[in-house]
Amino acid sequence: MSSLNKPIQNRPNDHFLDLPPLPMDAEGLADGFSRYYAYTFGRDHDCQSAYYPYKALAMTLRDRLMERWKQTRAAYDDSKCKRAYYLSLEFLMGRALSNATLNLGLDQAAEQGLYQLGLALEEIASSEPDPGLGNGGLGRLAACFLDSCATLQLPVRGYGLRYEYGMFRQLIEKGAQVEEPDHWLRDGNPWELERPEFTQRIPFGGRTESHRDHRGRTIVRWVDTHDVLAVPYDIPVPGYRNDTVNTLRLWKSAATDEFDLDEFNAGSYPESVAQKNAAEHITMVLYPNDASENGKELRLRQQFFLASASIKDVLRDWIRLHGHDFSRFAELNSFQLNDTHPAVSVAELMRQLIDEHDLEWDEAWDITSHTMAYTNHTLLPEALERWPVRLFRQLLPRILEIIYEINARFLAEVALRWPGDNDRLRRMSLIEEGDDPQMRMAYLAIVGSYSVNGVAALHSTLLVEGLFKDFHELWPHKFNNKTNGVTPRRWLAQCNPGLHELLDETIGTEWVCDLAQLSKLAPYADDAAFRKRWHAIKQDNKRRLAEQISQICRIDLPLDAIFDVQVKRIHEYKRQLLNILHVIHLYSRIKQGDTQDWTPRCVLVGGKAAPGYYMAKQIIKLINNVSQVINKDPATEGLLRVAFIPDYRVSLMEVIAPGTDLSEQISTAGKEASGTGNMKFMMNGAVTIGTLDGANIEIREKVGEENFFLFGLTAAGVDSLRHHYDPNGIIASDPTLRNVINLLECGHFNQFEPGIFDAIIHSIRNPHDPWMTAADFASYVEAQEQAAATYRDPERWQRMSILNSACSGYFSSDRTIAEYNQDIWHLPTVKPSR
Ligand SMILES: *Cc1c(COP(=O)(O)O)cnc(C)c1O
Repeated sequence: MSSLNKPIQNRPNDHFLDLPPLPMDAEGLADGFSRYYAYTFGRDHDCQSAYYPYKALAMTLRDRLMERWKQTRAAYDDSKCKRAYYLSLEFLMGRALSNATLNLGLDQAAEQGLYQLGLALEEIASSEPDPGLGNGGLGRLAACFLDSCATLQLPVRGYGLRYEYGMFRQLIEKGAQVEEPDHWLRDGNPWELERPEFTQRIPFGGRTESHRDHRGRTIVRWVDTHDVLAVPYDIPVPGYRNDTVNTLRLWKSAATDEFDLDEFNAGSYPESVAQKNAAEHITMVLYPNDASENGKELRLRQQFFLASASIKDVLRDWIRLHGHDFSRFAELNSFQLNDTHPAVSVAELMRQLIDEHDLEWDEAWDITSHTMAYTNHTLLPEALERWPVRLFRQLLPRILEIIYEINARFLAEVALRWPGDNDRLRRMSLIEEGDDPQMRMAYLAIVGSYSVNGVAALHSTLLVEGLFKDFHELWPHKFNNKTNGVTPRRWLAQCNPGLHELLDETIGTEWVCDLAQLSKLAPYADDAAFRKRWHAIKQDNKRRLAEQISQICRIDLPLDAIFDVQVKRIHEYKRQLLNILHVIHLYSRIKQGDTQDWTPRCVLVGGKAAPGYYMAKQIIKLINNVSQVINKDPATEGLLRVAFIPDYRVSLMEVIAPGTDLSEQISTAGKEASGTGNMKFMMNGAVTIGTLDGANIEIREKVGEENFFLFGLTAAGVDSLRHHYDPNGIIASDPTLRNVINLLECGHFNQFEPGIFDAIIHSIRNPHDPWMTAADFASYVEAQEQAAATYRDPERWQRMSILNSACSGYFSSDRTIAEYNQDIWHLPTVKPSR
């Protein structure tokens, strides 16, 4: 037995945890900080590292979170209320220190306390490694949602994986992406609390056996399994100044203590240790694919590991609070599945209820199908997860049996509704037949859930008209929309201190938790003095961004230029290529002397490509080559600058969004489910240039068409053009595009690297180009010209900028979470007991 599980013999008396509340003023914080620095970490004046001040401050804040964390847990337990669990393979949390400082209301006290010690909060905060436990939008959404749940005081717990290595660090060498492992835990993580006492045991492999019990019921046992331990690490999630601290519980895989004695005795020490290694591999590394399935066995292991450990944890809690009666379980629990990644939860909850808690099938199904809720994040066919049935048979044999049974019962229901419609049965089956049958994870999620939602109005409509049409016909009531949002704490209050202060002064402080209040800004768009202050803040933020770019890229950006920014994962559907074609066009205009009424422009592009995504990596290389040619050409001085920002991540976005004038949201219509980068930019006063895609549509509705630069085909237009798309015809008849393609084809941007952009050129000229880059080019250039002309009229631009902020209230994740709660979860708000 581990010493951790050995019970204490001497009962401590009841008062030993009656501690006085910790001081929340500058002196108290400085005192706590100095103690950690000197005693816990043993550093003194000689220490040069910025890391120890960070750690000392983190511990000081963590103590203050700890008190509130316990009180929040106690309040949830005492109320025995309904709870929800957000299951996600990714949580892109970003740095915790400034967020904890802001949400605890300690920003000023910490600043002052440290100042008294001769230290600067901002510098200390920038020593924190940025935990990159997610790829992009999906993982960042999970993080924004946790912030909103805590701020709304909802009993929601996040469940995820504690990857040893997060998203890779991106370097640019000779213009190309190079990936470097991100060992973010190397120096420890002061924000996590290991909870070995809640370790779970997760089965893999083995086989099933069945027998009949004394009542004649068939009992199935999953035997000869290779078990892996799941050890939880808890991360505090503070609400905004409300004493609530919720939990993000991340699982780390570990080997069981057992050791293969047979192997060992046979002299195979390596084999006996190999299993230990295999076990520890499960949470070793985050898969770096955004919006594309992967099909690797280890990934399925990760998914089941998360599902099984989290469900066991929830059932353990249920039994602790409610005993072994599960009749009210569905009434008091919801699981929200963040995309299909945790969809195996449907079968795993069935398995645990039936095999481990002795429920009958019907009872277990009634509970499961009223407990699970599924959020879809993509319409891209290559992102729809399917797993080979043979992999399930080998890795999760009991789960496969349960899915077969779910499928048989489901198809019987379909057959009853549409007798004789065999084609429909084949289409809707959870198993796609073929030489190598595949499990359709999205279908499993739909069948097992009581709610299925998309993440923006257009996306939810396209889902029920296309991908999930058959399911919508069967169960229309399950389908709903929840337009994404982002947290105004991190994405406005924290990242834009200048604007924060102006907002407080102008409309009061309530906007931080009620972002709709930003609408009070609208009248100030007509106030010249206010516009001037607005502009000054934007220019300050542009200076801060330009300093970063100068340090990172050695490129100087003129502050009077329009800062035109596209940062997001590199993907063909997001069309960074369209952006760079426009840049080439601008360069060509400069070279031709066509610079009358020119608007100076800095084009910034950033984002990571999945390591195996050839075209995305080519696009990065092209952007860097174009940037090289343009920036070193004296003709472009003061007119055009192009920079590729390496290693795009949350902490960089916190500098980028406040310093952006023009937000590029230019995906092929119908392909971007929602986007959330678009919302961060809008809040911070950037104007969007974009297609009618994802949440752009709702952004344009809120801000008004006159304050949005629209271009391109609609989703319906894209679909109908597909049959007769002729990019070569478009290029031939558009001199502007012809000229741009000509510069590419003649090798102007790859003088010493012949042919390297051939694949890109082919993709533009391909009549089957799914992203239809050529189709939207002319319309994009025209919208860019309008944006440039508008920017030359500062009064008009500042008005648009203010109105974008003023109309961004709807895109707070507080609104999104309030809707999830109203329509799907039905949780009470619970205040911590004091
Ligand atoms: C917001 C955010 C994203 C999502 O951006 P989209 O433009 O919606 O794709 C991705 N990565 C990071 C680091 C973010 O902060």
